[in-house]
Amino acid sequence: MKRRQFIGTGLALAATWPLRGFSAVLSGVGDLPAKSLTGGDLLLRGSSVEALGASLSGDLLLPGHEGYERARHLWNGMFDKRPALIARCTGASDVIQAVNFAREHQLLTAVRAGGHSFSGKSTCDGGIMIDLEPMAGVRVDTKARRAYLESGSRLGQLDRETQAFGLATTAGTVADTGAAGLTLGGGLGRLGRRFGLTCDNLVGADVVTAAGEFVHASESENADLLWGLRGGGGNFGVVTNFEYRLHPVKPIVLAGEVAWPIEQARDVLRFLVETADSVPDELGLEAALVWTPDGKPLISVEACWSADDHAAGEKALASLRGLGKPINDSIGPMSYVALQSAADAGLPAGNNYYAKSGFLPKLDEAGIDEMVATFLGAKTKFILFVEPFGGAYRRVAVDATAFPNRKEEFFALMISQWPGNEASDQHLAELRASWKPIEQMARGFYTNLADPDASGSVIHDNYGSNFRRLAALKAKYDPMNLFRLNANVPPKTG
Ligand code: FAD
Repeated sequence: MKRRQFIGTGLALAATWPLRGFSAVLSGVGDLPAKSLTGGDLLLRGSSVEALGASLSGDLLLPGHEGYERARHLWNGMFDKRPALIARCTGASDVIQAVNFAREHQLLTAVRAGGHSFSGKSTCDGGIMIDLEPMAGVRVDTKARRAYLESGSRLGQLDRETQAFGLATTAGTVADTGAAGLTLGGGLGRLGRRFGLTCDNLVGADVVTAAGEFVHASESENADLLWGLRGGGGNFGVVTNFEYRLHPVKPIVLAGEVAWPIEQARDVLRFLVETADSVPDELGLEAALVWTPDGKPLISVEACWSADDHAAGEKALASLRGLGKPINDSIGPMSYVALQSAADAGLPAGNNYYAKSGFLPKLDEAGIDEMVATFLGAKTKFILFVEPFGGAYRRVAVDATAFPNRKEEFFALMISQWPGNEASDQHLAELRASWKPIEQMARGFYTNLADPDASGSVIHDNYGSNFRRLAALKAKYDPMNLFRLNANVPPKTG
């Protein structure tokens, strides 16, 4: 392929990619094999690709271009896919151009923000990746208690920028995760029992629809779209900017972990069940059955008291800390921002990951026994998280947002990771087998952790009574199902 040439100077440039589309044109691009929305073969005309490149302010990367390899990889090493085109968008204008190109060519379309999709749906083979990563930045309006987040931003940015002003909103528990994908699918985190899901705090969004139209969604404008963005995933368009409601949260919280030998796991889980309804909203709790690096099983509970009154937090935590004979107790005052990034190092990009999740209407003695036995008996080692799903999460009506899983008492999540050079099939089969008994107790799963092959009735059943409304919304904003690489809701026809 020939190099690009600068417009105006006419100077033939022997520079390597990437060059800015705005100031340069692609030239000599040959026709490009690609995949259509339905998986068929397409041939993109080189001249169309050149025109797209020229219309973008960001880079348009093709296989072989500098930056292509880095951009095509996601956090989860299991998905080694090669898009035909990667549009590195720097703003809404680029997103509109990329969406129009994808729609006009019926091109398979993936949308990537933080790249932390467990299911690998933010990349694709042979299609276009609309890559929002270059669009990063967070602005805080302290008076109105709002944060405006560009869609390529990570949660760590959101936490840091808001905490600089003693504010926060619910974010996930790993700072490197993209805010965009997490918000659109729900958003569970340490502040969730107090302030609700991340999507419950989404009060406005700028969206590029499948028609390439730029619309705003809020309670007063396109309110139906805002409803869908609160848990309906990436079904309705590309969100370029998110507006969040913020809450006062002091930078030092009372947080840490208490750990016990696995023999006490039943007592600890029973304690969580017995106290689930009485725990103050200010206290976020999450239990984890884990294996230590030297192969010992244990149970730990991570706690985060986010209110100002730490004496009240100490009181709320006393019974947990006094339970049985802990082998470790690290609870103390610590920075909320530091807490939010404490888990990052244990989840490095490039490893292979697989997760199973579900919402449990209840957790009884038999369920507790099943969990502990499954954890200890599994061939492939995994972490099993169990989180009381109460407080503000459950105070929102099922039909108030698209997020469907509001009434269950516990959230369970099983994750395994293995090195990128190990074959995945056996790990997947073993984790699926381990999950089976817990799945029997669950209703639905977390959209953001949907299985890579989840489709049809599985997604329909998970959205439950919200599904019809989602399908109608999809027909309004994406009738051709351009945005189908997600927990897909097909447009309602007829
Ligand atoms: P991406 O891979 O960039 O995108 C995922 C999907 O979101 C895309 O396929 C697309 O369909 C959609 N999407 C992304 N951006 C846009 C956009 N701007 N417009 C339209 N659609 C878009 N979840 C929690 O709730 N709480 C947690 O604590 C938590 N911890 C996690 C920790 C790790 C290490 C990981 C990998 C995931 C975690 N998750 C958590 C799950 C997380 O919510 C999802 O993986 C989420 O999809 C990540 O968002 P992303 O922007 O990084 O993903």
